[in-house]
Amino acid sequence: MQELVKEIEELKRERRAVILAHNYQQDVVQDIADFVGDSLALSRHAANTDAEVVVLAGVRFMAESASILAPEKVILLPDVLAGCPLAASIDVEGLREEKAKYPDAAVVCYVNSPAEVKAESDICCTSSNAVAVVESLPHRRVLFVPDRNLANFVARFTDKEIIPWEGCCITHYRVTLEELEEAKAARPEAKILVHPECRPEVVEAADFTGSTGAILKFARESDAGEFLIGTEMGILHRLRVENPGKKFYLLSPGLICPNMKLTNLAKIAACLKEMRPVIRVPEEIRARAYQALERMLKVA
Ligand code: SF4
Repeated sequence: MQELVKEIEELKRERRAVILAHNYQQDVVQDIADFVGDSLALSRHAANTDAEVVVLAGVRFMAESASILAPEKVILLPDVLAGCPLAASIDVEGLREEKAKYPDAAVVCYVNSPAEVKAESDICCTSSNAVAVVESLPHRRVLFVPDRNLANFVARFTDKEIIPWEGCCITHYRVTLEELEEAKAARPEAKILVHPECRPEVVEAADFTGSTGAILKFARESDAGEFLIGTEMGILHRLRVENPGKKFYLLSPGLICPNMKLTNLAKIAACLKEMRPVIRVPEEIRARAYQALERMLKVA
């Protein structure tokens, strides 16, 4: 493995590349990355880096967001098959039909969506800024796509009418209230931290709900010594590195996103060597999707 790490370091220098990894990536991928973060942080980093090449260790919609925000850069996705079932739950035609039903509603689009859907939306959001984005709009009604659980979570914090799209993340959906209750009974002292993509009843029963960035912050600042984590298992790596004196347990064994685990060191080395697969959003879509992302970045 050391050989592979050395090869990646050399290729990075040669290509003037930077590796950005999502919090759900494998431990070894997070360790080699120049930056690890949630979707919002990755978007900001891709837009601001001086590097000419960005390796996006994550899933396709993240690489698309990088291409939308930084069209002059080469965006590489180490495994072209790394998609997101939640993003795949919506398409432009479906969104247009829904928009026709609610002509007075603003469309807020979670970044876990295809570029074409972002282009058709008024503004994007991530799980860390969704409430602030919705509150920033003058509209009374909001069509919130594509995650119904995040939509339900946002609805708890706003008086606006939230109309959800019926998509969900199959990984977070696996966590049930029964599992949460069993885990809590086994570790009554532990704080339960979950992602808003979890089912509403799980969110309701948790001590804290937030994006991966917010979960990391909560764990750092909390006095508690034990935590049950209700988001993808990749986050355990950073939680344990950043909090060596604290204990972290996964809320459900089902919290593994197979798409996030497709990226590995060999694929990162190969994509830097061959300079492919490149993710480039066509300009006509990019320009419109950029506006939706840019509006979000101005809010939070
Ligand atoms: Fe998509 Fe869920 Fe995997 Fe995130 S964890 S990439 S939302 S399927």
